[in-house]
Amino acid sequence: MAEDWKLRTKLVHEGSRRSQYGEMAEAIFLTQGFAYDSAEQAEARFIQSGPDEFIYARYGNPTVRMFEERIAAVEGTEDAFATASGMAAVNGALVSMLKAGDHVVSARALFGSCLYILEDVLGRFGVEVSFVDGTDLDQWRAAVRPGTKAVFLESMSNPTLELIDIGAVAEIAHAAGALVVVDNVFATPVFSRAVALGADVVIYSTTKHIDGQGRALGGVICGRREHIRKVVEPYMKHTGGSMSPFTAWLMLNGMQTLDLRCRAMAESAGRVAAALEGDARLARVIYPGLASHPQHALAQATLNAPGTMLAIDVKGGKEAAFRLLDALEIWKISNNLGDAKSIATHPATTTHQRLPEAQKAQLGITPGLIRLSVGLEDTGDLLADLQRGLAAI
Ligand SMILES: *Cc1c(COP(=O)(O)O)cnc(C)c1O
Repeated sequence: MAEDWKLRTKLVHEGSRRSQYGEMAEAIFLTQGFAYDSAEQAEARFIQSGPDEFIYARYGNPTVRMFEERIAAVEGTEDAFATASGMAAVNGALVSMLKAGDHVVSARALFGSCLYILEDVLGRFGVEVSFVDGTDLDQWRAAVRPGTKAVFLESMSNPTLELIDIGAVAEIAHAAGALVVVDNVFATPVFSRAVALGADVVIYSTTKHIDGQGRALGGVICGRREHIRKVVEPYMKHTGGSMSPFTAWLMLNGMQTLDLRCRAMAESAGRVAAALEGDARLARVIYPGLASHPQHALAQATLNAPGTMLAIDVKGGKEAAFRLLDALEIWKISNNLGDAKSIATHPATTTHQRLPEAQKAQLGITPGLIRLSVGLEDTGDLLADLQRGLAAI
């Protein structure tokens, strides 16, 4: 029975649909629409479509449906809606459930575009958003109130890898009747237990680990069937942020190796972090698997592994960080993450450049901070490359 399948089996087989040809690989249904046998059938399908009945690719498509069923099974939710990008998922998950007058509480440490939606977009439509330090439960308690419709957080923040106690925040949010919406990109579907801890809606940018090869943008919103089909789907299908069948096919293929890739990358990340910690040229090495990480115990209690990302703070600020980056040969200077290729990012001048200096300082985005996404290369080669970078400082 599929319900008894373990993670790796689900990642390979769950959600597969086969045409009359019995193809082994998932088929890409590159079709915008579907022909009906009769006018009566068309009418019936618009009233209520069955599980193998589709209307229009913006509403759903067999390849996209395969991906939605596979990721929902892996995440442990009843259903999922696939989107054109991670940001389409964040925007869709929030806007679909909110209206003017509603209140949202959000962790402050967010991906730049998430911050734009919560700080700029929602406010323009009359939704009030309160920001808190996500690691401080007293701030969540003080901010949540009757009328709070949702709380939003990145379970592991970008780029400083702060961990938020999803279980404790969910208890506070649920007591006020608010839904817990988690952007779970850094935790990955294979290391996260967000749903078991109390998350109601879990969002992924599938651009990251799920594709894992830097080929396409994608996103997904996972949650209870009632919520996905009655709240998220109407908003997404009428506003146009659906995933394309070709992207869904890439993501289905990415998922088959997701567990293997994430485990190999996390193992390597742990070794890189351990090797760099204590280096005199670094002010900090941030990795949730290190005992020095402020939420190390929480990482151990709530994640299946401490993740594929780390951050280092180079003494000597921007100039030193740039000298390190420019000396790298294997690590690519780029801003994706979760890719097979290792990536080094300077958040202060790229992904978080837009933020005022005071906000950068508040979020720990120092001039020397470099975010590292550990890929699938040999760990020794990656470390030698970083040593070359450090020597160039
Ligand atoms: C990348 C990212 C997003 C946005 O995803 P896109 O696929 O680039 O739209 C949202 N949240 C987090 C935490 C991310 O890392």
